[in-house]
Amino acid sequence: MTNNDPTPTPGPWQISESDGTNIYVQDTDSDRSGDHDIASVFDRASNQVQTANARLIATAPQLLEACKAALEEFHCDCDCSTCETCGTRYFLDDAISLAERGPRSSAQK
Ligand SMILES: [Zn+2]
Repeated sequence: MTNNDPTPTPGPWQISESDGTNIYVQDTDSDRSGDHDIASVFDRASNQVQTANARLIATAPQLLEACKAALEEFHCDCDCSTCETCGTRYFLDDAISLAERGPRSSAQK
């Protein structure tokens, strides 16, 4: 990862009708020409699981914004990482970091 990591396609995203084997997660920007596909979800064994996975991926932009909004609302003066509020802040911050920058390697701190 570098400091100029690209930003993801802005939401909202939506899921398409299944074509029998794949469900596509697409962005909803009608002004952008070209390919709107974000992801193709495979799960031939269970269409219900396939649909649930696609729904989760399609909700990612809203989930990221919700995590950021929640992080702004949780304040704690102790900064202890063991109280419930600090634990929730750490959980949210970690999820946001994973979404925006991926897993931390041992070289990153
Ligand atoms: Zn605390």
